[in-house]
Amino acid sequence: MKSDQVKIPQATAKRLPLYYRFLENLHASGKQRVSSTELSEAVKVDSATIRRDFSYFGALGKKGYGYNVNYLLSFFRETLDQNELTKVILVGVGNLGTAFLHYNFSKNNNTQIEMAFDVDESKIGTEVGGVKIYNLDDFENILDPEVTVAILTVPSQAAQKIADRLVDAGIKGILNFTPARLSVPDSVRVHHIDLSVELQALVYFLKHYPL
Ligand code: ATP
Repeated sequence: MKSDQVKIPQATAKRLPLYYRFLENLHASGKQRVSSTELSEAVKVDSATIRRDFSYFGALGKKGYGYNVNYLLSFFRETLDQNELTKVILVGVGNLGTAFLHYNFSKNNNTQIEMAFDVDESKIGTEVGGVKIYNLDDFENILDPEVTVAILTVPSQAAQKIADRLVDAGIKGILNFTPARLSVPDSVRVHHIDLSVELQALVYFLKHYPL
């Protein structure tokens, strides 16, 4: 996201990609405007929060009209840097890494995995989902200096060492899918997604907090 634009609270910023995806679908279906109630039902965020979020970037919906879909979409595109392609790298082409390479993210937004790295000789030099796999030993020499985001899907015991190398090479954001809690300098952002913890939490909530 661009930092020179309106300063929005982090909680709002986190919801922007969600809004963006829904608005893209609306736009694709030819819809010109949307109410906060409609948005609320679709993205499962209460409408007061949506109105407050949108007010941060000057989108003031009109009563009985709602929000202009084109306006919102171009705002989000700009804010989320969707006019430019953001290249990311992936380290660890195991089962999860392979799934991400096949999925790639360009289907939903302008983010693309440019290169993947692994230490397994049988994987190095091959391509998965159109993405070439390189030797992690060569990482520092071949990393595109424009790339500042890395997806980490290695075994957890390897995660910290690799994170240190990523940071030294100029990576500023790590999407960490390993169970390891990473220590990084304050200037680096780590988003941690532990799928088994999420699943356990869901099961626990279903059991103890039935809807
Ligand atoms: P697979 O069955 O392909 O090994 P997996 O997801 O069960 O997949 P993991 O042991 O989690 O395997 O490893 C994920 C990937 O990370 C593998 O491709 C493995 O070769 C790679 N890997 C392991 N150690 C490192 C490391 N130190 N640096 C980079 N990649 C590593």
